[in-house]
Amino acid sequence: MTFDLLTIIFIYPTCVQFCCGLEKRTNRVESETEFNELLQLYTNSVSLPHSGSAVVWLGCWTIPVITGSPVKTDEMERAFGPPLSEDELMSTPVFGKSAPDAPTSEGNDIIELPNKNAYVNQKWPNPKEIPYVIDSTFDSKGRNAIGYAMNQYHKNTCIRFVPRTNQKDYIHIRKIDSTGWSCYSLGLGYNRGRGAHVVGLTPSCYASQAGTIMHELMHRVGFGHEHTRPDRDTYIEVIWDQITQEWRPQYEIATKSSLILSYDYGSVMHYPLGNEMKTKKSYTGIRIGQRNGLSGPDVQKLNKMYC
Ligand SMILES: [Zn+2]
Repeated sequence: MTFDLLTIIFIYPTCVQFCCGLEKRTNRVESETEFNELLQLYTNSVSLPHSGSAVVWLGCWTIPVITGSPVKTDEMERAFGPPLSEDELMSTPVFGKSAPDAPTSEGNDIIELPNKNAYVNQKWPNPKEIPYVIDSTFDSKGRNAIGYAMNQYHKNTCIRFVPRTNQKDYIHIRKIDSTGWSCYSLGLGYNRGRGAHVVGLTPSCYASQAGTIMHELMHRVGFGHEHTRPDRDTYIEVIWDQITQEWRPQYEIATKSSLILSYDYGSVMHYPLGNEMKTKKSYTGIRIGQRNGLSGPDVQKLNKMYC
């Protein structure tokens, strides 16, 4: 009891910060399931005791309700834009030079429980019809960049992103209104009955490089990071003390994932080495962490899984 009281006194105030962090991180949280996943990620990252987690959970749900700004929002409240036109799908956007201070990863990226990967057991049931909606707030640059990314899948695989009609499960490409760098997939692969399978993008995600949207879409169709494959220790060494607590889940080995084809340093799903990783094999002529687009092996893997 004493412990719980202390927990309440010391941890309860911080739950407001957690809630702010969650909202900031996701823009909007759509369902209680997603909210719980995010909360789990946060509480894991600060190693809260179980009772502390419960208090934070309670606080995060009651405080917004009391203040009249519930965290739970209705997906239907968002305005969706028209489906991408043929021109937008066929466009070749001009991407600026990578900014010198461009971050070395996607900024948030996979938001999910650590060590949960998708692959073959969470693939979309019909690759020729993966429904999508996109927010109405994307400008033409954003729409062209999304169209271009989707078209790389259309050109190279049997996957087809199609405008949603009345399908229960669909990809929702969300515009995140921030000047920061936040590009993420809320969960990985297909989850039956989930409804919106969210990909979040700030304008930074497509300002300078084409590959980040392809990267997030590849999460969305069921692929984790190349550097978290179960066989990755043969190819790279992770320098854990160079990685902040918050980012460690993005480097944990995804033990539940299936291996499809061989390790690919050039994958759009590989993070740059930075100070966080070292290679163990030679990789001549490959830029590790490239975000130009799907690599040859990325395409082969998508085809092997779906086509
Ligand atoms: Zn990622």
